[in-house]
Amino acid sequence: MTVGVKFESVTKILGQSRAVDDLTLAIGAGELFFLLGPSGCGKTTALRTVAGFYTPDEGRILFNGQDQSRVPPHKRNTGMVFQNYALWPHMDVQNNVAYGLKMRRVSRAEKDKRVRHALEIVHMHGYAERMPNQLSGGQQQRVALARALVIEPDVVLLDEPLSNLDAKLRIEMRTQIKEIHRKIGRTMIYVTHDQAEALSMADRIAVMRRGRLVQVGTPQELYTLPESAFVAQFIGGTNLLCGTLEEAGDLLTVKTSAGIVRAKNGVRGIAPGEPVFCSVRPESLRLKLAAESSGVSPSDRTNELHAEVQSIMYLGDNEQYSLRLADNVTMHAVEYNSTTRKAQVGDQVALQFDAQAVVVLPQEELGD
Ligand code: ATP
Repeated sequence: MTVGVKFESVTKILGQSRAVDDLTLAIGAGELFFLLGPSGCGKTTALRTVAGFYTPDEGRILFNGQDQSRVPPHKRNTGMVFQNYALWPHMDVQNNVAYGLKMRRVSRAEKDKRVRHALEIVHMHGYAERMPNQLSGGQQQRVALARALVIEPDVVLLDEPLSNLDAKLRIEMRTQIKEIHRKIGRTMIYVTHDQAEALSMADRIAVMRRGRLVQVGTPQELYTLPESAFVAQFIGGTNLLCGTLEEAGDLLTVKTSAGIVRAKNGVRGIAPGEPVFCSVRPESLRLKLAAESSGVSPSDRTNELHAEVQSIMYLGDNEQYSLRLADNVTMHAVEYNSTTRKAQVGDQVALQFDAQAVVVLPQEELGD
């Protein structure tokens, strides 16, 4: 069955902290949904309230509209995958995967069929007789996934499932988990602090901070239209230029110490005179040697800031520039597939960017 999961004003207090603080969130049936945020923001606690390992202090968890808050974990039909795999070391793959079915007293024939099917889904059918210590980390994690899937859960819960794997394997497993999600069509809730993992895999993402929900959206929505400086810098990395909003409207005007910035996007309700951040992604900046840009008339120079190249990092498919603007403000720019270097360290450059690439956000204290 596909099941929609709803958090209704859920608060969970652990020790002195509101680990989850008034969380309201609806996850659609069949979604591959991510809870993303820095360490300690309450993602795991939120996931554990769905599994039933924690009971909310306030609010309710609903599956397809049915309150689950007092339903014990084994009656919720969820399957959980942990960061450390949590396989039984003394059981082979077959028995590890079959464990949940034994507990449910499924007949032997049915059990064998379902274990075989679950191992096929994760491409581990040739390994049924191996012991966990004869498997690589990625293979162990796939067995852990098969063990969660074999009980045919309505909701699959994944808690940082890839964080113990090396970088290359992590990227391979992203594709595999997405493919498994497509095949089984079940609701999956996936917890991570790795924004690249969330961006590359999710149908939708909820960003959390200090126990609270900050923003929900598709990867594209969060990346292109963040509603806070926290989300803008947590997802993808950005330049945040400090300034004061001078004019609101369709085209916003911000006065910064490096010059005037015009923006097409911004959070509603900021009034002229308020302190703001202008978020501009590094890949939205175009670099021109100051000499090249000097022929352009001033009216064509919307969003052109002057800077000096401080450092250049060559990374094969891209080059990352660190640039110093007036008032010692630093910005970062990235040039992809550049065949010829645009500038050298110490060069004076003009940084140009479109108003469409700028998002005006309220100033806030950053950090976790
Ligand atoms: P991470 O990415 O590091 O796993 P997280 O976002 O999953 O972090 P949680 O594990 O949900 O965060 O923890 C949320 C908050 O609750 C943290 O401040 C943490 O210190 C606190 N916390 C978690 N478990 C307990 C506990 N058993 N007792 C007291 N406080 C706890």
